[in-house]
Amino acid sequence: MEWFYDLSEAELRKSVTGLGLKEFVAVQLSTWILNKNIVDPDGWSNISKENRELLTENFDFTLDRSIRTDADPSGTKKFLIELQDGNRIESVLIREKNHYTFCISSQVGCALGCKFCATGNLGFKRDLFSGEIISQVILLKKELGDYEGKINLVFMGMGEPLLNYENLRKALIRLTDEKGISISPRRITVSTAGILKNLKKLEEDFPNIKISFSLNGSDNTQRQKLMPVSKKEHLDDIIEYFRDRKRKHRITFEYVLIEGLNDSLEDAEKVSKLLRGIPSKINIIPYNPNDFADFKTPSEKKVDEFAEFLVKKGLTVMVRWSKGKDIRSACGQLAGE
Ligand code: SF4
Repeated sequence: MEWFYDLSEAELRKSVTGLGLKEFVAVQLSTWILNKNIVDPDGWSNISKENRELLTENFDFTLDRSIRTDADPSGTKKFLIELQDGNRIESVLIREKNHYTFCISSQVGCALGCKFCATGNLGFKRDLFSGEIISQVILLKKELGDYEGKINLVFMGMGEPLLNYENLRKALIRLTDEKGISISPRRITVSTAGILKNLKKLEEDFPNIKISFSLNGSDNTQRQKLMPVSKKEHLDDIIEYFRDRKRKHRITFEYVLIEGLNDSLEDAEKVSKLLRGIPSKINIIPYNPNDFADFKTPSEKKVDEFAEFLVKKGLTVMVRWSKGKDIRSACGQLAGE
């Protein structure tokens, strides 16, 4: 039996017509499930009973199961999701002023082992299928009931999305398809530690999707200590790529600020030089503690000094005191626990 969520539009059409049904039934099916969020076949009112039965006999429409949710007073909700093989991932729903943001996972665990990140400390288990990425989005949409406002998607949950590029690509096609979930590419951000080859592919395939880059160090040597991936993917190569390519949006640089490690004004000076000439904004994220690392969060004064220095250098800077810290859903805290 095929799992509906893992099929591309073309694969679905082929399977539906293979059952002797008309091609438009595949469109109706996608509209009900992906667009209107109606997973229960009883609700597919424009598909005949006979055809609904045939479809449920041949496709598995079961979503991955949310087995626990934790909420904090700001409206942030963390979902612990059990996959069909028993592995667990986390997704986060964040209520913003005028919209919702879904923070989506792309892998079970992560191979990159960033020192400040709980997921990295779990190690890598496996890539998510495209259907498992889509299933997270549908689950979170279901949580919002009949909300019809804007939704932003950020691939900042567990895993490095660009190390699971083919499944990410398949999911992005489905997520942005107007007949399906229909999220504008401009409202989607893929966050990466910098897998240059696949970053280039992503920008070729989806020029309107936004990129967020985990910088976290003011030079490659310092970054390597926090992000071992920098031994293979040199920071200078990534920065050069960002500087040379013309794009419609600015690159967001994420900088987790850790006391005594990367939070000096010399670091701020180096960061300002590094980003010179790149249309960018920088998010300063004061370190969010987790059970795996022994780092400290800098004082508010230190965070402000760092941010102000960059502002004086002409950079657009946001300080992000993370939401969802109480429920361990903030940046770097997801552990599938
Ligand atoms: S920060 Fe991202 S890339 Fe680094 S270990 Fe965590 S999930 Fe992986």
